[in-house]
Amino acid sequence: CRKELQMLSDLPAETRDGYRVQLLANIDHPGEVTSALAQGAEGVGLFRTEHLFLGRDTMPSEDEQFAVYVQVVQKTGGRCVVIRTLDYAGPSSPFFQSMHYEPNPFLGCRGIRLNLNFEEIFKVQIKAILRAGAYGKVKVMFPLISRVEDLRRAKDMLQQAQLELEQEGKKFDPRMEVGLLVEVPSAALTAELFAPEIDFYNIGTNDLVQYTLAVDRTSARVNPLHQALHPAVLRLVKNVIDAARNSGKCVAMCGEMAGEPLATLLLLGLGLQQFSAAAGSLPEIKKVIRAVTLREAREVAHRALQLSAPEEVRRYLEQEMKSRR
Ligand code: PEP
Ligand code: MG
Repeated sequence: CRKELQMLSDLPAETRDGYRVQLLANIDHPGEVTSALAQGAEGVGLFRTEHLFLGRDTMPSEDEQFAVYVQVVQKTGGRCVVIRTLDYAGPSSPFFQSMHYEPNPFLGCRGIRLNLNFEEIFKVQIKAILRAGAYGKVKVMFPLISRVEDLRRAKDMLQQAQLELEQEGKKFDPRMEVGLLVEVPSAALTAELFAPEIDFYNIGTNDLVQYTLAVDRTSARVNPLHQALHPAVLRLVKNVIDAARNSGKCVAMCGEMAGEPLATLLLLGLGLQQFSAAAGSLPEIKKVIRAVTLREAREVAHRALQLSAPEEVRRYLEQEMKSRR
C-alpha cells in the first residue's frame, strides 16, 4: 500500500474528468523540503517561520533569515514557496517573554498584531523575504488578519521595506504576491472585501475552527469539540472559496483539514484549488482526488452543506469514502 502511494507521487493531482488541483507542503524547516517533494508536493504552501525566532535571546538578523528562506527556495527548485510572517502565541522563549506578556495569548498580540506592534522586527523579516524572492517564486502571507486595515498596514510596511532595499542596492522581488491567511471568522465572513488588496487566499482551519467554535486548540479537554466539519466552519470555508473564485483569486487551504482525506471530496467540491498539508498526508489526498470526478465531488459538497451536525457530516463523508473503495 505504501509502495502504491509512493508511485502516486509522480502523477498529477487530477480528478477522473481532468480537473487539476495542486498539492503543497507545510514545513517548519528547510530540511523538510526534499522529502516533501518526494511525496508529491508541488511546492511549499506554508513555511512557518517561528522556529527561526524561538529558543534564542536575540532576534535573527536580516541576513540570517534571508539565508534560511533562500535555502527553502533553492531546495524547491523553482516551485512556489509561501512564507508566512511571524506568528506566535505563548511565552515559551526568553526573547518573546521580554517583548510582551499575554494573559490570553490566542486572543492577544499574535500574528499580524505581533508583526505590526514590533514594526522593526517585522520590517527585517519582510526585507529578508523580499530578497529571497529574487531567487525564486516566493509569496508572502500575513497571519491572523481580522480586518482590512491591518492588511493595508502590512502592505505599507512591504512597500517601505522595498524602498529601503532599493536604497541599499540589494536584489529583491518588486512584485511579490501577497496572501491573506484566513483564520479569523471576521475575515472569512467578509472575505470578498479583501480581494482588491491581495493576490491569493489561504484558509487556516486550525485557528478558524478554534475561533469559530470557541474551542482552545491546545486544550486536550475540549479537543473533541475542535471540529472542522462543523456546519459553521463549512459555511465559512465555502464563503472564502466563493469570494476567491468570484474575484479570480487563487484559494488554498493550509490548516490540518487540507491534509484530512475524509474532507478531500468536500473541499474539492467546494472549489478549493490548492491543498497544503504535512507532506506525509499528500499521497493519500491525491489518491482520493484521482478516484473521483469534479461533478461527484460537487454533489458531495452540496449534500454535506445541508447537514446540521458535525457528526452527521462525518458519517456522510465516511459513507461516501467507503462506497468508493
Ligand atoms: C492554521 O491556523 O490553520 C494554520 C495553518 O496556522 P497555525 O496552525 O500555524 O496556526
Ligand atoms: Mg494559524
